[in-house]
Amino acid sequence: MKHAKFSPSAGDRWVACLRAVPLEAKAPPEIAGEAAELGTDAHEVAALFLQNDLEQARIKAGILNEKSEEHVQAVIEYCAHINEVTARMTKDDGQRVSTLIEQKVEIYAPYCWGTADTILVGKETLFVSDFKSGSGYIVPVETWQLKAYAVGVVKFCQSKGIAIPAKIVVEIFQPRARGVEAVRQVEYDLSDLVEFEIDIRNAIDRSLAGEGGFEVGGHCRWCRAKADCPGMAAAATDLAHLRMHGGNPEAALDPQALGPAQLDEALKLATVLEPWIKALWARAERYLDLGGTLSEAKLVDKRSTRKWIDEAATILWADNLKIDAYQPAKASSPAQLEKRLTPELKIKMGELVEKVSSGMTIVHMDDKRPAANDPAKLRLASDMLAAQAGKKNQGPKS
Ligand code: SF4
Repeated sequence: MKHAKFSPSAGDRWVACLRAVPLEAKAPPEIAGEAAELGTDAHEVAALFLQNDLEQARIKAGILNEKSEEHVQAVIEYCAHINEVTARMTKDDGQRVSTLIEQKVEIYAPYCWGTADTILVGKETLFVSDFKSGSGYIVPVETWQLKAYAVGVVKFCQSKGIAIPAKIVVEIFQPRARGVEAVRQVEYDLSDLVEFEIDIRNAIDRSLAGEGGFEVGGHCRWCRAKADCPGMAAAATDLAHLRMHGGNPEAALDPQALGPAQLDEALKLATVLEPWIKALWARAERYLDLGGTLSEAKLVDKRSTRKWIDEAATILWADNLKIDAYQPAKASSPAQLEKRLTPELKIKMGELVEKVSSGMTIVHMDDKRPAANDPAKLRLASDMLAAQAGKKNQGPKS
């Protein structure tokens, strides 16, 4: 599929870092992973359903179902949601709303364009919906991708002589997202969109003119150029030598020696560097796979596991020895069993299930789950810091 040079989905990156697009243009092409392919298929099925091409929709949904039942379920939920919003808008307006599915919209031709999943144009509201079928990455609604789509949709409507309603609602619908609402909406007015368009044009013009520096941040996570990025390399140097302990590299590299402020500073840099380090390893793996050699890394066989050469023959052999070769029967997990139940039985099943957390885990502050608040643990942490401070005040032993 052809992508815009400045694609809306990468908007958070190229608005924040003007060097991202030129550097990514030199990086090896991205190979679509399984998750991306499932996402593309889910969008196709959803579009067919919403365009009322039911025969094709059912065929494609069947194929998708073989690969991922969860994605088919997400499609069903998305279509039901769009039908519900359409019905509500029609009722509020007292007239039919116009629906556009998978509509190409231009934001700043010829550099920036995209495809809006669903556009509903009513008398009172212009509604732009973006369907995310994945569960791994929680996309915030106030992202440049959606701002760019909103700008593109308004320009598209204007080019067709469609009156723009005063209320512009933009949403992300992500039914498989964990820990956040599936529907995340934000409302804009035309003046907001005028500002967004100016910002988008500025970022693109300046990037094309070679302006700006390498701005590292959370937006680097999906940048294809991070393994080659001088900004990332500089952040690594910062982490190791500069920002902490007044330039004392040894102290900076000892996590035990960091107080809360320095831990925060280090985590900020580590969050940026983690994907860069992953990209470095991936790059090295590709190079070694092509026959290259490195002094710091090598390819080895993956850990091998034992498996039966012929399972039927093994069971026969065990039977002859009067040994039961089958595993003991085990109840399916709630998630596995739920897939085989009707909606009513799913509700009933709730009485048999309890949610047991396996403990706490550390996540980045961006994670939408509320912070666990355990007073006993907070006391332990402050005791630990007080003990650390005490040790420092004692000074070196003679
Ligand atoms: S890795 Fe980050 S700083 Fe480097 S080019 Fe990409 S977005 Fe910019």
